[in-house]
Amino acid sequence: MSELRQDPITKRWVVIANARNNRPVHLKKNAEENKPGVNPFAPGNESLTPPEVFAFRKEGTTSDTLGWWVRVIPNKFAAVSLDVTCDEDLSGFHKKKPAVGSHEVIVETPDEHADIALLPHDHMTDIWRAYRERMQTLFQNPVTEYVQIFRNQGYGGGASLPHPHSQLISLPLVPKNIEEEVYHCGQYAEINGRCLFCDLIVEEQRTKTRIVAENEDFIAFCAYAPRFPFETWIAPKNHAADFSNATENMLTNIAALYQEVLQRLAQVLGKLDYNMVLHTAPRNLKSPLAYHWHVEILPRHVQRAGFEFGSGCYLVTTSPEQAAGWMRESNNPEPA
Ligand SMILES: [Zn+2]
Ligand SMILES: [Zn+2]
Repeated sequence: MSELRQDPITKRWVVIANARNNRPVHLKKNAEENKPGVNPFAPGNESLTPPEVFAFRKEGTTSDTLGWWVRVIPNKFAAVSLDVTCDEDLSGFHKKKPAVGSHEVIVETPDEHADIALLPHDHMTDIWRAYRERMQTLFQNPVTEYVQIFRNQGYGGGASLPHPHSQLISLPLVPKNIEEEVYHCGQYAEINGRCLFCDLIVEEQRTKTRIVAENEDFIAFCAYAPRFPFETWIAPKNHAADFSNATENMLTNIAALYQEVLQRLAQVLGKLDYNMVLHTAPRNLKSPLAYHWHVEILPRHVQRAGFEFGSGCYLVTTSPEQAAGWMRESNNPEPA
């Protein structure tokens, strides 16, 4: 069973997925609590996962065997599914929909101990190519309204297996956080005839205090009003609403800047737990200026607690100007 339910008070949609109770949890708070278990993402264990839907692999090797360096598989403990059976009910007091969608795992490297910030640049670019390929494919299904790509790093980031991987979930609706961003970008575009993110980037380049790093196509800066200390956003410098249209050149450059930001964060904070989320335009954007795709990196070394859950207001004890300053000053090792 997997269904989407709308909270009647806040109108927020949530996924109820009972089967996820049974998923394996191999990451515990303390390393000592880690039980050595079978790693389903390790090379040689391809038969333990559902059949792969995409991979970068050596020429001449066949699916679900050795030879891959990036491998995309359906999540065995999926939060959503293409064959859910619950009834839709949008007319009653409580509203629900079947959680129709795909939940996939992008296994980022065969090496379970790899630090993705230090992967060779070409390898990291292939990970971004895999994101683009899967997003394009999932949007071909007319039921898909949004595709959320995300990465949970470490216990604090909510990861359940330590092997480097990211995930995606496609949804038959636009989730609240995206709806909110799209709404405000749309209002701004209607009034000003310009993209809100494009103007934000101009403002960050004018003040410079929150910029972390830049390259030809992308800028990374600490968010002006962050939810987490060191929260860093990476956005294309030229207007682009939809990540799935990213060019080869852009994928090369997002891969480079993403790794640079992760390295700079690690230089300042040490080995860190974080979430990465990729925000892109939902299906049927009102105007091409009504969104601008971007990546948000949310370090999770500080717990979010009662005040944040109670008020939706975040208390952040490092200013983004200070955080960006430290990240700019950190020395940035070259990828291996
Ligand atoms: Zn823009
Ligand atoms: Zn966003």
